[in-house]
Amino acid sequence: MKLTKSQRAELRNKFSGRCAYCGCELPERGWHADHVEAALRKWEFSPRQANGVRRAIATGEHWLPENDVYENLFPACAPCNLFKATFSVESFRNEIAQQVSRARRHSVNFRTAERFGQVHVTESPIVFWFERYQKEQAA
Ligand SMILES: [Zn+2]
Repeated sequence: MKLTKSQRAELRNKFSGRCAYCGCELPERGWHADHVEAALRKWEFSPRQANGVRRAIATGEHWLPENDVYENLFPACAPCNLFKATFSVESFRNEIAQQVSRARRHSVNFRTAERFGQVHVTESPIVFWFERYQKEQAA
């Protein structure tokens, strides 16, 4: 859905101007309106270009249009929104929880930093900013 200017301003402030997930302060521009439950954009192939490539182009329609409503939108920073992609909130939490083991498996930099005590991994649960915020508001 296309947000009006005032809807966008209201959405940005939904959790005191912070990303619903990581809690970073949202910039004036460049933050995303995240579909909490994915609406799944429809796309189609472009005509073949001179170099033979066909590109995927969003049609502007959704597979789950019932999720493309204001009530299903959270303000998110670009990195959180892009990583969350079509994950549900719980799948997103689960993906984040796997980041340390992935870094350990794939990154020499991470393993080296950890071996020299530069990285301290915790077992802390993944709690999203909107959860802290809502708990605080309810108290
Ligand atoms: Zn974020």
